[in-house]
Amino acid sequence: MSQADLIPVADLGQAEATAELARLAFEIRFHDAAYYQNDDPAISDADYDQLRLRNAEIEARFPDLKRADSPSERLGAPIADGFKKVRHSRPMLSLGNAFNEEDVTDFLVGIARFLKLESDAPIAIVAEPKIDGLSAALRYENGIFVQGATRGDGEVGEDITANLRTIDDIPHTFADTGAGVGAGAKVVEVIEVRGEVFMSHAAFAELNRQQVAADKPEYANPRNAAAGSLRQLDPAITASRQLSFRAYAWGEVTALPAGTHSGVLAAMAAWGFKVQAHAICESVAEMMAYHGEMEAGRSERPYDIDGIVYKVDRLDWQDRLGAASRSPRWAIAHKFAAEQAQTIVEGIDIQVGRTGKLTPVARLKPVTVGGVVVSNATLHNEDYIVEKSIRVGATVLVQRAGDVIPQVVEVVKPGQAPFTFPTSCPACGAAAVRDEGEVDWRCSGGLTCGAQAVERLRHFVSRNAFDIDGLGEKQISAFFQAGVVEAPGHIFQLQARIAEKNHAPLRDWEGWGETSADNLFAAIKEKRAIPLDRLIFALGIRHVGQGNGKLLARRYETLADFEAALAPDNLQQLLDIDGVGEKVARGLLDFFADAHNKSIWDELVGELQVQDIERAATTSPVAGQTLVFTGTLEQTSRAEAKARAEALGAKVSGSVSAKTDMVIAGAAAGSKLKKAQALGVKVIDEAAWLELSAIQAANMEEETS
Ligand code: AMP
Repeated sequence: MSQADLIPVADLGQAEATAELARLAFEIRFHDAAYYQNDDPAISDADYDQLRLRNAEIEARFPDLKRADSPSERLGAPIADGFKKVRHSRPMLSLGNAFNEEDVTDFLVGIARFLKLESDAPIAIVAEPKIDGLSAALRYENGIFVQGATRGDGEVGEDITANLRTIDDIPHTFADTGAGVGAGAKVVEVIEVRGEVFMSHAAFAELNRQQVAADKPEYANPRNAAAGSLRQLDPAITASRQLSFRAYAWGEVTALPAGTHSGVLAAMAAWGFKVQAHAICESVAEMMAYHGEMEAGRSERPYDIDGIVYKVDRLDWQDRLGAASRSPRWAIAHKFAAEQAQTIVEGIDIQVGRTGKLTPVARLKPVTVGGVVVSNATLHNEDYIVEKSIRVGATVLVQRAGDVIPQVVEVVKPGQAPFTFPTSCPACGAAAVRDEGEVDWRCSGGLTCGAQAVERLRHFVSRNAFDIDGLGEKQISAFFQAGVVEAPGHIFQLQARIAEKNHAPLRDWEGWGETSADNLFAAIKEKRAIPLDRLIFALGIRHVGQGNGKLLARRYETLADFEAALAPDNLQQLLDIDGVGEKVARGLLDFFADAHNKSIWDELVGELQVQDIERAATTSPVAGQTLVFTGTLEQTSRAEAKARAEALGAKVSGSVSAKTDMVIAGAAAGSKLKKAQALGVKVIDEAAWLELSAIQAANMEEETS
């Protein structure tokens, strides 16, 4: 769904918001799986961020509707190339959420009921501040740190041992503590200590200062910075970042040093792990008091905490309580309200995006919101500004919620004159237009608009498009400024154009040398051969994302057939492609109907060897079918199953609908399976799928041999 089709958050009613949160939770989960587990994202990072942003905005407006499985609560660190995967011997679960006293009461009542205790029986609860970082699992064998992993999707994380070793708070070894504090904390054969890796506000500010100095993008918040720092392929970079660690849980363990949660924490502290100060509460009143106290002191803390985690202290009770789906029954996170602060709108700037969208951004008098300095906030679109009466000079309440860019919650004191949205593009001066039924203003300057050109070029070379090593935003901007790269085709004429424009050879440019220049030319040369789907996606045509690039490439297979399909009267044929809608088809035809765009395209493809898409085996009975995998596959990874299905000519989708031909349900399949059954969609199990796909693979081999 494109952003333009969505109801603005400010206009959503309760029921619509509930439905939207459910849709977003589902979509984000799907894209997380595509990105984190399968290394095959289905949408651009920016589109993904938009989903998360919208989710966070709706949650900010309707905090009570926040789902227990809210995507904003998931921390899954992307599995990057270069990290080994680690299967957690005990899954790293998430936590359920409580937002108010009633939820906390329900939590305690639920436990008493589950354990069949008297309703007034005391239940000792450990209350721990919830640090806003990312969790890590540290495996110690006989007191020696042997392996450390991220949480990943909870089942499989990344092996980041080398990086974790660089964190001062993480002991490389620990020994028997003997008597005294933590007495009896004997070193166990195997213990996997779990806790939070995070970055303090001071370390975060320093890191961003260095990022700016090095002309690199700043991190949005300490949590992102911690995640980014931990996932460096070069541990030396992690070592240069000041990360901290606090232990609060454990996974696999051969013998526990105590029978209570607090006892195990004390043992960990005695072994030399940093453990946060915590309290033991015996009633809702005590829990609420602790929560209130910590929330009040929150901004004085040198790092972000976003709530209190309550855990049943007795471990035998924890065992009996066990876990429900993704979170344990014996623990819950009682969240703090989003942090807010007041400040003044000093200006409203307009940013021009790659597709010409004009986004208003409030320039704020810098203010500290929960320890992080905020100096701008997105205003989304014209309607948002009008509805909230956001004006220059207004005093506004801003809030920072998790990793979301700050938002303006409301106007506290009115400002000066109403803001008039510009009717021309601030970057190129071309007319700005807002089409009927759309919320966004757009620049009509197309590829001649400087802002769009740079953004489009940046997109063109991005990871899922041409992915040219050594050619990032900074280099693209510099080449554009110098007039050597103004259109995608120019990238492939770089050397000649540098000479033509009478510039010094690239190796003599600032920031370049012989090797880096040679590497860049080699990287560009290598990408002259490009698969058709990447080429289509790289154009950055409105509504034509990666998924559509693939659909089109599969349908037309060769460059010549694709070009032939772009004749202005070909709308219907494009619409006939399953998955291609009106907006995509029109976006494509409009793009190619523009003479300027067409000449840019011709120049570009003249430089390339566009690779055909291999024809899928038409004899395969799943060719052309839409399949959905759900549940846990035991025999193969989801990525392998998906690749196999695609090799057999099927389309793999993340959601079940009437268009689904078949659902392959692994263990513990849930809502998708139910939906398939309700819709009467064919369902097979993993064994049947393996048989089907293996037989088909054999058939195909026979045919091709
Ligand atoms: P969530 O993923 O938000 O549902 O909550 C679970 C996450 O909270 C864990 O993965 C940790 O990253 C984080 N966390 C921070 N402090 C604690 C704590 N004291 N106990 C458990 N989890 C914590």
